[in-house]
Amino acid sequence: MKLESQLVHAGDRKRNHDSAIPSTTPIHLGTTFFYESAEKLDRIFGHEEEGFSYSRYGNPTSQALEDLVASVENGHGALATASGMAAIQIAVQAALVDRPHSIVSSGDLYGASISMFNQMFAPLGVDVTYVDMCDLEAVEKAITAKKPGCVYTETVSNPLMRVAELDRIAELSRAAGAAFVVDNTFATPVLVRPLELGANLVVHSATKYLAGHGDVLGGVVVGDEEHIAMVRTLSRISGPVLGPFESYLTMRGMKTLALRFERQCQNAKTVAEWLSGRRCIERVFYCSDPNHPDAATVRRLFAPGLYSAILSFEIKDAQKNSIMQFMDRLKVVVPGTSLGDVHTLLLYPAMASHRDISPKQRERMGIRDNLVRLALGIEAVDDIIADLDQALRV
Ligand SMILES: *Cc1c(COP(=O)(O)O)cnc(C)c1O
Repeated sequence: MKLESQLVHAGDRKRNHDSAIPSTTPIHLGTTFFYESAEKLDRIFGHEEEGFSYSRYGNPTSQALEDLVASVENGHGALATASGMAAIQIAVQAALVDRPHSIVSSGDLYGASISMFNQMFAPLGVDVTYVDMCDLEAVEKAITAKKPGCVYTETVSNPLMRVAELDRIAELSRAAGAAFVVDNTFATPVLVRPLELGANLVVHSATKYLAGHGDVLGGVVVGDEEHIAMVRTLSRISGPVLGPFESYLTMRGMKTLALRFERQCQNAKTVAEWLSGRRCIERVFYCSDPNHPDAATVRRLFAPGLYSAILSFEIKDAQKNSIMQFMDRLKVVVPGTSLGDVHTLLLYPAMASHRDISPKQRERMGIRDNLVRLALGIEAVDDIIADLDQALRV
């Protein structure tokens, strides 16, 4: 089945003896499960048979979502978690359990991921090295020097939209015996499927595109057979699982993921082109730009005709004050933190995601104080452009 069809069918409509089959998976709130015979429950507790016993180990609604995500990311299995950060924590823990306690990571990560490595893993003795994942030589050098247990990156970086060569990094990781973990939140499986490129574990903030409507906080880990088994073993102990109601909402959202994401990508491309022609705009960062530093990687790894649904742009001569006034003038675009929702969201990195980084360090990272990030929604693109146009006029 093609991805668009998997999104609508996978996980749902499990055959269960002779009972009626609901066309979509219901919300199973029960925490405890038993069977006609205690013998069956015994086999389930003993891992001799698949089945439900207690919701921290597995829940039918969450499992339907996990089957769906595993299907579209082409993984062996998945675990739905209470947030994207919970997914990252358990994925990296699983990667490091039986490997050297060392991580080689992209330095250009979601802020909380950096904080997790520095404030949760490093104090437990995990060595953390940050590299530019778009510089393969530097990546190879770091992997050779550190012999890490885990290599970690995001498919598309935030907010400058750099794209790492996941297949090459996967090769380097495999050769060094490291698990390769990819945060695929920005790309979604519609754009890139990192497991097919050699990653061992993929994590998502399902809060963003997968759920897609700004009403669920959730995450998911998908992996190959060996790594997802370890994730499940650890999850049975620590229980970072997503509740059945949120699992249901995420699954409901995912049925329209392909439709939403394709529209969001089209909107992003149109808005990027419109912004590039404006005199008040200094630079636009978007993956369809032929002069994008990773244009060749984009062509090689992204689904044809799609360039992601997020872009950033610099407003000429703008300071914090004028950016805030620009945000206050927006009427359609929502000036909020997140991304991947049906409505277009605008974020000011210097105020939000990159606030805790010093202005000097931000400048070194190429994130200037006149840069804003736009995560396109599914609105008519003319309305988004008209709104940006009126808000940019002073
Ligand atoms: C939002 C986000 C996260 C964290 O996800 P939560 O659901 O907020 O915990 C991790 N990585 C990326 C790329 C994100 O955008």
